[in-house]
Amino acid sequence: MDAAVKYVKSRGYSTMYLLASPIGVNKIDLDVLTDFYKKYGFEIIKDYGNSRGMVSQLEENGESKFSDDYDLSKHSFTSGDCDIYAVSLHRLYGYPLYVVRGWYLEPDLGQDEREWEYEDSHAVVKLPNGNYLDSHGETTEAELRQNCAFSNDIAKITFEPVSEGEMLSIFSCQDQEADVQKVMDYLKKSNNLSESDNSTFYSYSDLNEEREVEGINDKTKLSIFDFDKTLVMTPEPEEGMKKWKDKTGKQWKGRWWENPNSLNTDVFDMPTNPSVISAYKKEKSNSNNLVVMMTGRIKALSNNVEKVLNMHGLKFDDYLYKDGAETSSDKMKKMELALKYNPNIRWITMYDDRSEHILIFKNWGNTMIDMGYLDKFEIYHVKNGKPFIV
Ligand SMILES: [Mg+2]
Repeated sequence: MDAAVKYVKSRGYSTMYLLASPIGVNKIDLDVLTDFYKKYGFEIIKDYGNSRGMVSQLEENGESKFSDDYDLSKHSFTSGDCDIYAVSLHRLYGYPLYVVRGWYLEPDLGQDEREWEYEDSHAVVKLPNGNYLDSHGETTEAELRQNCAFSNDIAKITFEPVSEGEMLSIFSCQDQEADVQKVMDYLKKSNNLSESDNSTFYSYSDLNEEREVEGINDKTKLSIFDFDKTLVMTPEPEEGMKKWKDKTGKQWKGRWWENPNSLNTDVFDMPTNPSVISAYKKEKSNSNNLVVMMTGRIKALSNNVEKVLNMHGLKFDDYLYKDGAETSSDKMKKMELALKYNPNIRWITMYDDRSEHILIFKNWGNTMIDMGYLDKFEIYHVKNGKPFIV
């Protein structure tokens, strides 16, 4: 048994199908078996009865290997079931699927040319900011390169986009649909409207005194406006840095978007988008609308962002800034919290210019409707200053 456990663990498998028929024992009690495997760090998640039952349940009935009372929050998705987790994220949020692929030269068989072969180590989805996401959270390409385990002598690692069908057949030859459905349900319940988020944004009604919104309980719609290139035509890094040098005589130092000087009103003209401002005025005119500015700019720039908005006479019920996470997931989290604490809100309208975020938000909105948290979700893609409904 020790040798078998050692082998299974060395391969990084998280699920082992075991056909147990020890000599001299007719029927093993599940509790006894559970205690036995616990010693080796395994957990029995399903008893199929016998091998025929297992095959028919897995293949014909399409049954999930996770039983209804199985606690998925304790399941490790970073080895065997990373593909199920990635496909679930892909279906819920529209993030594209990727595998971490290791390349090695085929064994030397005396031929002149040795071909390159590959093995896939891990399944992930790619976030719009270029990082990746798995069950441990957001991770960088460099971290994945370091942490992914391969069984061959790998010479190089690549990140390859794959389709959903490919992903579900790379690591398993079983039909995994039932497992994907289980994990999607689990993700919906655990990620959405959860208590787990410790963001500074809790509730519009009791967030803090200065931001208290009058008549919060009458608000039935959340109207969200992005800042850069949606409400205001702020400068892009390249042209902005050039203009900065022309006007100040100094070379720009450091990053762009996190720097307060990227919104310096003495240096840059930052006009609004008139079509978006018309939409803003329309949203503001209905007292049932909670009208919020939500940006991927960090909170340290709140004074600069709000100065620009004030200059244009734009006032919002609240101003929300990114606090750490990748921008699209940060925005979805904040919307989920808004819905959680303000159940009267049944409709969300968003205005945003980031092409790569639009479908992610659209998918999220549809999920919220499916789950009964929203009646309606609209997103306007702002292109060259003009909003188009998606
Ligand atoms: Mg923007």
